[in-house]
Amino acid sequence: MNKSELLRHIPSVDRILKNEDIQQLLNKHPHPVVLECVRAVLDRWRDNILSGSITVIDKKKIVGEIKETINRNKKYSLTSVINATGVVIHTNLGRAILAEEAIKHVVETATSYSNLEYDLEKGQRGKRYSHIVNAIKKVVDVPSAVVVNNNAAAVFICLNSLARGKEVIVSRGELVEIGGSFRIPDVMAQSGAVLKEVGTTNKTRISDYASAINENTALLLKVHKSNFKITGFTEEVSVSNLVTLGKEKEIPVMVDLGSGCFIDLKKYGFHDEPSIQHILSEGADIVTFSGDKLLGSAQAGFILGKSEFIEIISKNPLMRALRVDKMTLAAVEATLRLYLDERKAIEQIPTLRMILEDTESIKKRATTLCKRLKKEGIYAYTKEDISMPGGGSLPESGVKTYVVAVKPNQVPQEFTKKLRQAEPPVIARIKDDLVIFDARTIQEKEIPLIVIAVKQSLTI
Ligand SMILES: *Cc1c(COP(=O)(O)O)cnc(C)c1O
Repeated sequence: MNKSELLRHIPSVDRILKNEDIQQLLNKHPHPVVLECVRAVLDRWRDNILSGSITVIDKKKIVGEIKETINRNKKYSLTSVINATGVVIHTNLGRAILAEEAIKHVVETATSYSNLEYDLEKGQRGKRYSHIVNAIKKVVDVPSAVVVNNNAAAVFICLNSLARGKEVIVSRGELVEIGGSFRIPDVMAQSGAVLKEVGTTNKTRISDYASAINENTALLLKVHKSNFKITGFTEEVSVSNLVTLGKEKEIPVMVDLGSGCFIDLKKYGFHDEPSIQHILSEGADIVTFSGDKLLGSAQAGFILGKSEFIEIISKNPLMRALRVDKMTLAAVEATLRLYLDERKAIEQIPTLRMILEDTESIKKRATTLCKRLKKEGIYAYTKEDISMPGGGSLPESGVKTYVVAVKPNQVPQEFTKKLRQAEPPVIARIKDDLVIFDARTIQEKEIPLIVIAVKQSLTI
């Protein structure tokens, strides 16, 4: 057949729609969706005939392609993945998984009207953030608080409200970049505050801050160095020393804590992450941190501190642009409530549970996964390794973990690519030609899915 004959033999849209398989699709999917897929597939066949890459018309194949297209389109773009990286706070994989209680509260709030900005007692307009502020005050002793979209927004609005057109003193060693898109100097410039760097990259003393203060100084800012750490010959000024200086000169002290945790992690062996309570007890006037890093809740930026400052910040017209949604407020309120009982928080907030899980139970999960893989004839073994909690939290705090190592029968990069195309996608890492599945971030229910993904990826 020549090209024009082939084109004439392509079935019409009407004929395709009468096909039994397509009729079944029409029972399950909206008519316009099916129609669009039919047209798209037929157009593709026409193009391929014209380009010479198709020389026979196969109606069965056309129908098959239509079915495939519909199924592919049905899948959401934003989809669940299995995190086998061991990085608990993985920004690219969505950071925190919510606790059951938080999910329940989000669903309740999203499926009915709520008292979001309504005072039930007075029967009039209420305050959006009152729900959260009350919950925070139960967990920590702080005069006032407010929340915004994320911690970057929190830092931004604090600077914009309290230091626009004025100087903010920051140690040069703390001018860090977080996750490639958050740079303190850039955020500061956008906020209208003027950055005044003091000290050197590795050493900053209280005298450096003192001599930089002038009548135009609005804030002393301390930034937690997150996933960036300078080791060796270093010196930095503690929050309490900054507070002493600030009090003397009547300049408020702000701390961008980054991750922020209500639990003192020192007793669990993490020494680089001061608790929120500790920073407040040192006398910081304002503290900001993320809702979805160590806190284990939804994306949000917390601002805690003295009432006079929180009031100024709350009145900034930009608050409206940075305000959080009711679903976020619901997730945050429910998560905060879990912190009233530390044991409950660690058991029920997935981020904390995964970071603090003991090696023996991680080993058990690794062993289960390994056994299942071996049962499928796949060569795998468990071994001890180090996981990084990540997300700019707990700098350098590599913790002991157990992983399953698989030696792929192909280039490891090819293998991990196929794992990423599995359903659900599995994200693993490569180390010395081995593909590593870290049991720390793998949930029990995901084990059978990983086995299927590995099996399929090894054979095709
Ligand atoms: C993560 C981090 C931020 C940004 O927080 P987001 O919630 O991601 O906006 C800002 N400062 C520090 C120190 C951080 O670690």
